[in-house]
Amino acid sequence: MNDAIQPKLVPARPVREVASLRELSARVGSDPLLVQASNGNASIKLDGILWIKASGKWLAHAMREDVLVPVELAEVRESIQNGAEIAPHDSSKNELRPSIETAMHTVLRHRVVIHVHSINTIAWAIRLDGPEQLKERLGDLYWKWIPYTASGIPLAREIEKAAVGAQETDVFILGNHGLVICGPDCETAEKLLYEVERRLAITPRQFPKPNTAILGMIAQFSGWQFPDVDSLHALGTDPVSLKILKGGVLYPCQAIFLGQTMPLVPPALAVSKFMEHLNRKHRTPPFVAIESTGVMLNEKMTSAERATLVGLVQVTQRTEESARLRYLKCAEVVKVLSEGAHGCKKVVVKGEEENSPGEIERSHEKHDAVYNLNTRVS
Ligand SMILES: [Zn+2]
Repeated sequence: MNDAIQPKLVPARPVREVASLRELSARVGSDPLLVQASNGNASIKLDGILWIKASGKWLAHAMREDVLVPVELAEVRESIQNGAEIAPHDSSKNELRPSIETAMHTVLRHRVVIHVHSINTIAWAIRLDGPEQLKERLGDLYWKWIPYTASGIPLAREIEKAAVGAQETDVFILGNHGLVICGPDCETAEKLLYEVERRLAITPRQFPKPNTAILGMIAQFSGWQFPDVDSLHALGTDPVSLKILKGGVLYPCQAIFLGQTMPLVPPALAVSKFMEHLNRKHRTPPFVAIESTGVMLNEKMTSAERATLVGLVQVTQRTEESARLRYLKCAEVVKVLSEGAHGCKKVVVKGEEENSPGEIERSHEKHDAVYNLNTRVS
């Protein structure tokens, strides 16, 4: 009888553990202060297999669709060594492609790894004095600061280097990027994630109210509408946020989803000149921030762009005016946009692979290629 039961018992542990990771993914992915759209990823290592979020999938959807893809750890290690592309466990059956951060998850020795674009962490990770500031807040934890490095194998190598001789490290702060938390199981890792969040929490600044009379006039133009999230107006009405935005790109997702140059409109511009100004300066952007007035959204804005914009305003509202910031360098932004920091390295031609898992990421990569071409030549 034992023999009959045994085969059913063998896969029980992996099934249960993968289910725990899906539950954790859905919880973490549903918190806009941790994850925006398809960014962030989570993984678990079980019997030589790494179960990791697929590229382009949303962690928030983990309970309603397949978002995890299995990859052979040994194969990934070999790919890292050779600098080759990482493929799913059975690529003939599996249409999902593993996250670009698969290499990073693989080099970490911990069974469970969670990577999030935590708003509170990013607000520290964009500061030049970030490492010193975090020493005070994370001092007694096993943590490391990783200066900005491009996603994929380069980031994995930096993390691996940092962990040499410090194998106990289970918190990594990624400069101009986000947070990585590790643990022996889902429960422990999630607990540590919320402990780090608690320590890094910043209260967002209050901001002046929008000028709805002027915004109402802009709403008369076809395709422009009021945001459904009030805090977005801060990008137009809060002078500190505006100043920060004018400085450049703070992290890859900002460039990928919202463009290299923020669509800012001067306050004195007559409403009648609004469309003329936009057409001259930008390809129709997903949003526009009117200085001292507020923000308006384009009706064609995607959910991923919206989630990224909501995240961006949360970061700028948590950043002090006196903080000296490290913006992404021009070459770093160009690399992000040409290779796709969170998607794939292939630029897709319009109409190709429209429904594939990484479609959102690739389409934005394409969007920005056009968007930035305009801004580069001007
Ligand atoms: Zn990331």
